[in-house]
Amino acid sequence: MLITGTVVADAETIIEDGAVVISEETITAVGDREDLSDRYPDHERREFDLIAPGLVGAHVHSVQSIGRGIADDAALLEWLFDRVLPMEAEMDADATRAAAELGYLECLESGTTTVVDHLTVHHSSAAFEAARDLGIRARLGKVLMDADSPEGLEQDTETALAETESLIHEYHGAADGRLRYAVTPRFALSCTEACLRGCRELADRHDGIRIHTHASENREEIAAVESRTGTSNLRFLDAVGLTGPDVTLAHCVHTDEGERELLAETDTVVTHCPSSNMKLASGIAPIAEYLDRGITVALGNDGPPCNNTLDPFTEMRQASLLGKVDALDPTRLPAEAVLRMATEGGSRAAGFDRIGALREGYRADLIGMTTAHARTTPIHDPISHLVYAAHGDDVVFTMVDGTVRYADGEHVGVDAEAIRHRANRHAKRIADRI
Ligand SMILES: [Zn+2]
Repeated sequence: MLITGTVVADAETIIEDGAVVISEETITAVGDREDLSDRYPDHERREFDLIAPGLVGAHVHSVQSIGRGIADDAALLEWLFDRVLPMEAEMDADATRAAAELGYLECLESGTTTVVDHLTVHHSSAAFEAARDLGIRARLGKVLMDADSPEGLEQDTETALAETESLIHEYHGAADGRLRYAVTPRFALSCTEACLRGCRELADRHDGIRIHTHASENREEIAAVESRTGTSNLRFLDAVGLTGPDVTLAHCVHTDEGERELLAETDTVVTHCPSSNMKLASGIAPIAEYLDRGITVALGNDGPPCNNTLDPFTEMRQASLLGKVDALDPTRLPAEAVLRMATEGGSRAAGFDRIGALREGYRADLIGMTTAHARTTPIHDPISHLVYAAHGDDVVFTMVDGTVRYADGEHVGVDAEAIRHRANRHAKRIADRI
């Protein structure tokens, strides 16, 4: 396929009148439209106003999609323990599948081609199968909770780790490598130390596994970890093995000087979730400072109950604006830095090479966008446009691994209406029970 238009190849490279050539699942050329049209005259052609790398949602909860709107205007621990966890406890395999499918539909139609997905305790196979069938690229994992957790979700340590290992065997590397496993403890407060150490052992024992958890999102959470362990949250996580280049920590909103150094020294990846941090009033993560220290930062929408959208463009805009107002400095977190977080940073958080840019030899994960709105006219700078003006609704074409998943406002090969209907039915049933 030969895809033509203005190409944003990465956060530094724009090709006006550009083209991207796709052969099977790989990008085989990126360059000038005329030149590539001459060289590949027989390729099927598609034309878009703007072509960009597929974005990475580096911390999402697809299975919480059916809880959009059930937990507004509440503080984190109340939000979690009174609304979201009771919902997860009520979810059977069918509901889990419907919710994950709904989440992936929203991602694919708004420009996200890769997710780092924090599932739930039970029925995780249903979400893996949803990701496999809908064609999204995903790093996902069953949630481990073996302490201080609600009935229906808490497991004993051995069971939580054994289920994790069996899912690793079943799904890590599935769908031609499009699905990869992340060992996913919920957070320090809902796991025993033995469980957290067991997560590290599992990740070390299997090739290419990552660890993905929440950390230091909220002051109350941090105080509770300190009173339990006698040390700060990130120091505790470091002591039990949950820092390092193979670890993605969502949030890291409140960190002290030593913890920031720790993140940099251990090369741990941070996923910034600005909308969630604002909606739950968790605070403002020091993202510009993390970037200054060389820490890799990615972007995530978090879950629909705390955002309430999975639109990656909203998240880029919020990240930049929040960083500026925090520093009272409009030069902080410029558009290029934020796009880099949603692409290259995301690629590291997700642990997939050769995604997050349109380059020869990279995986063919890309989006085509329209600019035919008053809102999107004029465009002086395509990167500014993507971060500050675009919406997920502007995405008209989504390709993952060379396969078209969304085109002309329709999901390809998937009955999106039926998925929405099923998700709605489960959402209503579960909302009545919690
Ligand atoms: Zn989260």
